[in-house]
Amino acid sequence: MSLELSSISVAFGGFKALDDVTISLNKAEIVGLIGPNGAGKTTCINIITGFQDPTSGTVLLDGQNINTKAPFDIRRRGLARTFQAGRLFTGLDVLDNLAVTGVGLGHSRHRSEEEALRLLTWMGAEHLAELPAAGLPYTDERRVGIVRALMFAPDFLLLDEPAAGMSETEADDLAQIIKRIAEELACGVLLIEHNVGLVLSLSKHVYVLDAGKIIEEGDKAAILGSTAVREAYLGAEHKPENMGDA
Ligand code: ADP
Ligand code: MG
Repeated sequence: MSLELSSISVAFGGFKALDDVTISLNKAEIVGLIGPNGAGKTTCINIITGFQDPTSGTVLLDGQNINTKAPFDIRRRGLARTFQAGRLFTGLDVLDNLAVTGVGLGHSRHRSEEEALRLLTWMGAEHLAELPAAGLPYTDERRVGIVRALMFAPDFLLLDEPAAGMSETEADDLAQIIKRIAEELACGVLLIEHNVGLVLSLSKHVYVLDAGKIIEEGDKAAILGSTAVREAYLGAEHKPENMGDA
């Protein structure tokens, strides 16, 4: 199976958030998407998942255009995402939060809870099941967000800055989980991250987005050796005062 953003452009008024962007990934493969703040990374996920319509271009799932599908329909087709900010129901415990997703997919409550517990256990997070979602430490909330996305049994998982706010150890744990999602669940992963080291170590192929354009793509060596990346992305990271000029 393959997922492709094909020549996608998005304009908000006169502002081009994405300009002729093409990104593709296959099942069981991790592909990275990096770039400075405001580069258009989250917009890519919004386009793939139907939250945002492109001005031009297509989203292809196995070569079939899914542009016109509603978000719920796209999830049914095997695409799942996480959000930058947690969106758990704060009044429910973790298991119920996950079961709600299963019930929404049409499964019985019993089966949904079983599946939620199976996935939590798979991730080594079964101890979270009965904790209230409201009080979860940030990193656990992120892990539950990933489990919730996995409730859709996705063919492709779109992760929007999953390591944000994590310590190095926590990010390493997360890296193992992402690897297992690709290897054990045969799920294709589009990984958006500020943690460039994490992306480069995990991804088969990395795209670099800057001001709505793909300025580089390739494996770890290609990205590390790229002058364009150093100037546009790493340079900006080291000189945040220059970011406003973009
Ligand atoms: P990233 O995730 O790389 O930080 P985003 O995709 O969130 O970047 O945003 C890319 C650019 O598009 C930003 O300048 C942002 O302000 C703008 N943008 C995103 N969504 C909207 C929207 N719904 N309306 C107007 N501008 C938007
Ligand atoms: Mg973003």
